[in-house]
Amino acid sequence: FVKAEIIAVGTELLLGQISNTNGQFLARTLADIGIDTYYQTVVGDNQKRLESVLKLAQTRSDLIITIGGLGPTEDDLTKQTVAKHLGKQLVPDKKALARLQGFYTQSQRPLTPNNQIQAYYVADATVLDNDHGLAVGSASTVDGVSYILLPGPPSEFKPMVTHKLRPLLIAMTHHDEFLLSRVLRFYGIGESLLATELDDLIVSQTNPTLATYAKDHEVTLRLTAKAPQKAEAVKLLNDLEAKVQARVGDYFYGYGDDNSLQKVVVNALIAQKTTLTAAESLTGGLFQSMIAEVPGASEVFAGGFVTYAMAQKAKMLAIPLKDLEKNGVVSQQTAAAMALQSKQRLGADIGIGFTGVAGPDKLEDQQAGTVYIGLAFKDQPVDVKLFHFPRQRNDVRTNAAMAGFFMIFQ
Ligand code: ATP
Ligand code: MG
Repeated sequence: FVKAEIIAVGTELLLGQISNTNGQFLARTLADIGIDTYYQTVVGDNQKRLESVLKLAQTRSDLIITIGGLGPTEDDLTKQTVAKHLGKQLVPDKKALARLQGFYTQSQRPLTPNNQIQAYYVADATVLDNDHGLAVGSASTVDGVSYILLPGPPSEFKPMVTHKLRPLLIAMTHHDEFLLSRVLRFYGIGESLLATELDDLIVSQTNPTLATYAKDHEVTLRLTAKAPQKAEAVKLLNDLEAKVQARVGDYFYGYGDDNSLQKVVVNALIAQKTTLTAAESLTGGLFQSMIAEVPGASEVFAGGFVTYAMAQKAKMLAIPLKDLEKNGVVSQQTAAAMALQSKQRLGADIGIGFTGVAGPDKLEDQQAGTVYIGLAFKDQPVDVKLFHFPRQRNDVRTNAAMAGFFMIFQ
């Protein structure tokens, strides 16, 4: 492909009620695999105007990707409009239709004809299965122009882009070479610092390439290599990764697009049959909720404590009230006691305690963002770390929970 064009369909996008995050995600993905995006258009849920956008797009682009409007409601008309534009019928995908029927049977709702449309695609296209929803995507090529139709909900859109569209486009564009990428994930280092540490590599490398992406509380790095043989591409990636790890390996925690710090930690604990529990003050259960995000967490997590008030730290964790009063709630001693007591009371291998000031106001004369995390790991002495997180209340809480996972990881 030479020129890609992204068409985001939706009146709510056009009027600024939501941001075009899908467009951004897609453009990054395309750039990543060496496809240039030349145009991005936002158009409302209007058949005539979408048609005129398609007509213009086919004169200037050879890869046209639409986002949204594949659903069952009346304002969803992308599929119908593209089919009309190409002079093609809409036909049902058997597999998707069966899934759709199964879904409606299971939820005890009737499958109406407008719902069935979600399983239809533009005749002669390749179907892109939707593993996270009911509306299928599709890819057609007509007169040298490819039309890709993707669903709007980001929870469906992103996995489809990453797992269906990306490999498809790579296969279509790079016939004679392997394009391989590897995602490295980091916690505890900002994007700008990471980029500074790796500046010369980022600037000088054309193959493999290196790109940083800032996520909410972490940074990812994507390494991409091209070579005629797979083994050569792997070697290019390995060599570059070795350089990266030598510089910023202290912050590295795992690989992959769909990964997370809590996944890495909980899965490692499951593998080692090491149980954990927590006593949380400022994080208010967030850490334990993040444990529970990971499938299989029940193997190592039986429960824990949310002890927000001082009285509950005393009552639920049996920390002597006079100690709490003497040391202060936001203190090294309290974090250590919370870690130890939670571990002991649940009979777990690891206990972790969170206490601090989420803000915006000071507490016990300590600044917002001050957080102590205690880690009681098996029979080792309790390790307490002090953090000063600079941001807003809920960022402080999320950062604290993630810092807890990173302490266990280390
Ligand atoms: P559905 O089956 O849910 O109707 P759809 O494929 O028809 O999905 P839309 O109706 O266009 O898609 O959008 C569904 C929702 O997805 C929107 O309400 C919006 O929240 C989100 N969405 C759509 N397009 C985008 C976009 N470009 N960026 C971010 N979010 C989007
Ligand atoms: Mg819709």
